[in-house]
Amino acid sequence: MSRWKYTKGLHDLGNGCWGYLVPDGSWGWSNAGLIADGDATLLVDTLFDLKCTGEMLSDMRNAVPASEKIGVLVNTHADGDHTFGNQLVKGARIIGTEGTVSDFRRFDPALLLAVQQDPAKFGRPGKFIAECFRPFDFSGIELTEPTETFRDRMTLKVGDKRVELIEVGPAHSLGDALIYVPEDKVLYTGDILFSAGTPIAWYGPIARWIDVCNMVLGMDVDIIVAGHGPISTKEDVRKMRDYLLDVTEKARPLYEQGMDFLNAAYKIDLGGYRDWNDAERVVVTMRTLFDDFENAPERPVHVPLPFFEMMKDMRDHMGKPPVHHGYCDHDH
Ligand SMILES: [Zn+2]
Repeated sequence: MSRWKYTKGLHDLGNGCWGYLVPDGSWGWSNAGLIADGDATLLVDTLFDLKCTGEMLSDMRNAVPASEKIGVLVNTHADGDHTFGNQLVKGARIIGTEGTVSDFRRFDPALLLAVQQDPAKFGRPGKFIAECFRPFDFSGIELTEPTETFRDRMTLKVGDKRVELIEVGPAHSLGDALIYVPEDKVLYTGDILFSAGTPIAWYGPIARWIDVCNMVLGMDVDIIVAGHGPISTKEDVRKMRDYLLDVTEKARPLYEQGMDFLNAAYKIDLGGYRDWNDAERVVVTMRTLFDDFENAPERPVHVPLPFFEMMKDMRDHMGKPPVHHGYCDHDH
């Protein structure tokens, strides 16, 4: 059981490290983080819309006055639920991997807004996208990319605190990065960790994502802020890694029988993982796995999976609309 409740808002992890959580961690309900030392501040990710991000920044200012002026914003990856609020962090250096910058325009807020306004125009995927992202307001968002990029590793100082940025993508996305505070044994993972929910592999390879989990399990880390879900520990990383291993093992014979990924996603027995939130994401992970198998031993980084088609496939797999337990609800 975590020392920190899974409630919306800023959670003090000690020594100038904070996690900002937004339950329930399902579609679009993502986490962020803050690292502060003296007047220096580093923000880990923004949220999915301007209202959610504005509320978060205001909570941070109340708890940590130095965050009035964020010095550095690091995006763990390009997905909109971690970047669409970037424009509100005025004057900060914005850092991400080169992969994150290349991936940045994969999600277009104007398109998501158009889908929300007229889902029928976009057919069955439009319906699921509108259902998943119903609580969010995509108006006014100007994509604001990182202004500085890195590859492999980058070390920063936040006041006297050393912070390591570690590139680990492609895995969940093209440009995943971890943010590590060694002296406090705190790690911010972005969507490398979905805690208490089903991971989704937009890029893979899955084997690489599993390797990253194993790397994290070997790190000197006590507290983990996941991209989605409660404040976590290595135990949660182990659970998610085991899910990826389990799905890989079950997918391989189906691939070898010549089945296509979609039928395999229906055929696979998820066992206890069936009860995890957003279990329909297995459809996307299965497609990525089949690409991995097809191009073994090492496939080149592929183009992003077709988002609309995958949303339709997940909706079909799920057979019912998603349930929203999220906060930060809007009046529309
Ligand atoms: Zn996310």
